Amino acid sequence: MIAMAWKFLLAAGAATLAGCVAASTGAKSAEPAAAPPAPVAEAEESDPQQNAGFDAAMADAEKRQLVFDDPATSLSLKGDLVQGGLVFVQTLPGAKARLDGEPVLVSEDGRFVLGFGRDHGATALLVVTHADGSIVRRALTIADRDFPVDRIDGLDQSKVSGFTAEQLAQIEADKEKKKAARATTETAPLWSAGFSWPVTGRISGVFGSQRILNGEAKTPHSGVDVAAPSGTPVKAPAPGVVRLAETGMYFEGGLVLIDHGQWLESAFLHLSRIDVKPGDRIAAGQVIGAVGATGRATGPHMHWSLKWTGTLVDPQLVAGDMPAAEKAAGGGGN
Ligand SMILES: [Zn+2]
Repeated sequence: MIAMAWKFLLAAGAATLAGCVAASTGAKSAEPAAAPPAPVAEAEESDPQQNAGFDAAMADAEKRQLVFDDPATSLSLKGDLVQGGLVFVQTLPGAKARLDGEPVLVSEDGRFVLGFGRDHGATALLVVTHADGSIVRRALTIADRDFPVDRIDGLDQSKVSGFTAEQLAQIEADKEKKKAARATTETAPLWSAGFSWPVTGRISGVFGSQRILNGEAKTPHSGVDVAAPSGTPVKAPAPGVVRLAETGMYFEGGLVLIDHGQWLESAFLHLSRIDVKPGDRIAAGQVIGAVGATGRATGPHMHWSLKWTGTLVDPQLVAGDMPAAEKAAGGGGN
């Protein structure tokens, strides 16, 4: 379906180049008697029927020359168009958005987030439908990144493979807890003031590295690790709502999930102490717990993951340069 939408939109792009000029001068329709723009079908879930509605609406808009490419005035993107990158978008109030055909949650004042996974392809298509029915399309180029290979030895083998039935049952129960915690999100863009480092220190593990744990190839590293002594306070990088605060998770150990709105979520792993509970509304910089080495870890460190609609992205890109601060000694990874 996405591939089909691409072909359609590329064809539409060629067909409406002439329309761009008229659109950019503010002309919306040459015919005063034309019917008002039909609303574009929008829904939470994407299914073939809804996508068919979307395609039909696109075709309809194209006919009326309401489709135009990239008027800079109605769309502002900030962030990294790169694998693992997050992009923060400001458009007009009342807008709706789709990324590669999938609906994106937009706040009433027109703000939303886009995320691009570690293995995202070279292109993406953003389509924004404004309240007046006009449609803006932007073809995005997603830069490729190289991710290092990361060999970590000395992990407790029971946290790497050869799980017992009891351990598998706990891993499964942990998954269910996380799934339940991720059932809702805030519509408000709680992320809008930006992100700061929850802990400062030496970066001991980067996002996306290919993990080889005790000699076994595993899934890529899901976040960034900062080495810090056990007990170091972990501060919320941005405002949010606590969705999960659990000790004793099999891999994560002490785990806190924070919803920053619009399906953007921070996860903090291996905590030795947790100071918040589910439902808590927290401010940027508020202490949520303390660094530890619980779960699958070689030593005390803060692991921070960021997820957008289930896609892992790189926290280091949004937190920026580490502020000049005490460089904590020691610390492990994973
Ligand atoms: Zn880690």
